[in-house]
Amino acid sequence: MSRDPRYDILFEPVKIGPVTTRNRFYQVPHCNGMGRAYPSSMAEMRGIKAEGGWGVVCTEQVEIHHTSELSPVIEGRLWDDADLPVFQKMTDKIHAHGSLAGIEPCYDGLATPNRYSREIPMGPSARPVSYMDPVQARAMDKTDIRNMRRWYVEAAKRARRAGFDVIYVYAGHDLNAISHFLSRRWNDRGDEYGGSLENRVRLFREILADTKEAVGDTCGIAIRFGVDELMGNDGLNCEGEGRDVVEMLADIPDLWDVNVSDWDNDSVTSRFASEGFQDDYVSFVKKVTNKPVVGVGRYTSPDTMVRLIKSGALDLIGAARPSIADPFLPNKIEEGRVDDIRECIGCNICVSADFTSVPMRCTQNPTMGEEWRRGWHPERIDRKHADESVLIVGAGPAGLEAARALGERGYDVTLAEATDTLGGRVTIESRLPGLTEWKRVADYRQHQISQMPNVATYLESRLTAAQVLEFEADHVVISTGAKWCDSGVGRENHAPIDRDEAARILLPDAICAGDAVEGPVVIFDDDHYYMGGLMAELLRGQGHEVTLVTPSSDVSHWTHNTLEQGRIQKRLIEMDVNIMPLQNVVHIGKDHVTLSCVYTERERKIACGTFVPVTMRRPVDQLFHDLMARPELTEGGPQSINRIGDCLAPGIIAAAVYAGHRYARELGGGVNDPDRVPFRRELPQLAAE
Ligand code: ADP
Ligand code: SF4
Repeated sequence: MSRDPRYDILFEPVKIGPVTTRNRFYQVPHCNGMGRAYPSSMAEMRGIKAEGGWGVVCTEQVEIHHTSELSPVIEGRLWDDADLPVFQKMTDKIHAHGSLAGIEPCYDGLATPNRYSREIPMGPSARPVSYMDPVQARAMDKTDIRNMRRWYVEAAKRARRAGFDVIYVYAGHDLNAISHFLSRRWNDRGDEYGGSLENRVRLFREILADTKEAVGDTCGIAIRFGVDELMGNDGLNCEGEGRDVVEMLADIPDLWDVNVSDWDNDSVTSRFASEGFQDDYVSFVKKVTNKPVVGVGRYTSPDTMVRLIKSGALDLIGAARPSIADPFLPNKIEEGRVDDIRECIGCNICVSADFTSVPMRCTQNPTMGEEWRRGWHPERIDRKHADESVLIVGAGPAGLEAARALGERGYDVTLAEATDTLGGRVTIESRLPGLTEWKRVADYRQHQISQMPNVATYLESRLTAAQVLEFEADHVVISTGAKWCDSGVGRENHAPIDRDEAARILLPDAICAGDAVEGPVVIFDDDHYYMGGLMAELLRGQGHEVTLVTPSSDVSHWTHNTLEQGRIQKRLIEMDVNIMPLQNVVHIGKDHVTLSCVYTERERKIACGTFVPVTMRRPVDQLFHDLMARPELTEGGPQSINRIGDCLAPGIIAAAVYAGHRYARELGGGVNDPDRVPFRRELPQLAAE
């Protein structure tokens, strides 16, 4: 197939100063939890983006000096020449596919406590750093400013030597010295670098000029800038100082990469914002500059991309998350395979890996982070090892991905699902407030397997062990999922919560299925991801009086890692959900529950008509155990029977997709040796004594 001519405009080259990108697909800088710690993984992942058609592929933010480092968060590091080979590897891989390589040097300033180097942080003013460490930064004097300008220049020169084509001056996300100097909040200087906006922009202007002078003859110089901080006149905004900064520097850089700041506002999840949510904030930029403009907004639709270019809103389509979920998005448009795009669902599991300092993972793309260490390519998979058949029982994320990937390998696959819909938990959960886009996990896979003649799908087929064996498949995969538990056992309680027989207890599964709730409702969230907060939002939205009790200090605590916690808590407060943090539940009565303070065990009773425990899930694994107990297994039964996904151990959707993918990759590859590390490692290098 060839591309639809309507999308031709997306494949036009664009000049970025002295360099030219082959098309308008631009992978903006994004963290990946690999960076300096897992550089081969990082280089391979970026190379695959170039192979998939992204015309420009950038690094994450790259530390330029040891006095400003983000440990233990894993970013790029370009402190001196010793770091060059890491980036040379990356740029080689990007250039091999005809794309440009971009780098985002960064001096973190007031953002970071320097946990590793133990150097005193520096910024425009003496302040506690924004990380919650008991560390204060000192104010830079003129010598410090001169030094930092030199460090930026040295980093730019090194970056050019490492092969980069586009070099950023980064002033976004409230995460670096340049944006701190710009900000009235952080900058209380009385010299020519503080006070008026003209003064606060001075350092930005100087570093931009220095970088242009140092490398601008051969490299495109890009600005990354948050035009609006979504805090009105307390911050930069697109009607005030954010716009003024763009006007002041308008045609100096070769490219404007613009967004809203900080990171929470830039990478909003689909629960809180939809595709194109930044458009209104950044649309003025093209009117102010003659230079090309790139913007982001979780764009996955080529029609939206074309509209953005034709309407003069953007010149280049920026993407972090859509390029993670589908590194081959541009090529799929080019090849007329738009329906094959694996669209980002906006869940921010990718972001969570950065916060937890591990290689990035993605709900939609199970190969993300595994390109080098396991040799998984997002678009290529080995052919089947033999003419064998696989029966998959359960079509949730794990079963669907196993079916898709096994189908791609060429096996004879049968997928049996008990209900009348595919998707398992994603189909159910995508009906909860804000989670519509999560359905894409099922939709993408359903579409793929519908094209495969070797994959047969049967709905309304709840299989028993006897039926599974009658099927005579060579391999059986049990992916029957998990259900929420009502015992109350979880992190806080290690035995079932004491209860009256008359207590009304409803699980999230029943609430999703529409079971009637009698108020007042008490939700007990000992899970700390999205379900507890969502139950509160759903039931409060239906008009019930809702109390959310949690042993944690805030609601949906783990969602700090997905940049959602603040928005969830705000929404629940605004909806008048009664939030009771730092409390356990010790008794469930007919019309009340008894709470216990997690510190003092002081008890109190609150009214409760329906109790909703969100504590842990139990695998639906009876079928697996029934099968394992069948005597027929010893003679003539399937060669293998495996449990995958939530049926083995309940986890997040990304883990289930990964489990399905891994099963498919490894079928026929021999038995996993539990004594062997199953992937390539990147080991620290021993320094010479
Ligand atoms: P996972 O996240 O591991 O993929 P899910 O709970 O999302 O798990 O999906 C499990 C799916 O398995 C559900 O759609 C459920 O209806 C289906 N299922 C459970 N038991 C059976 C069975 N005995 N036969 C066929 N399908 C089943
Ligand atoms: Fe998108 Fe979620 Fe994948 Fe991140 S993890 S790229 S938000 S699908």
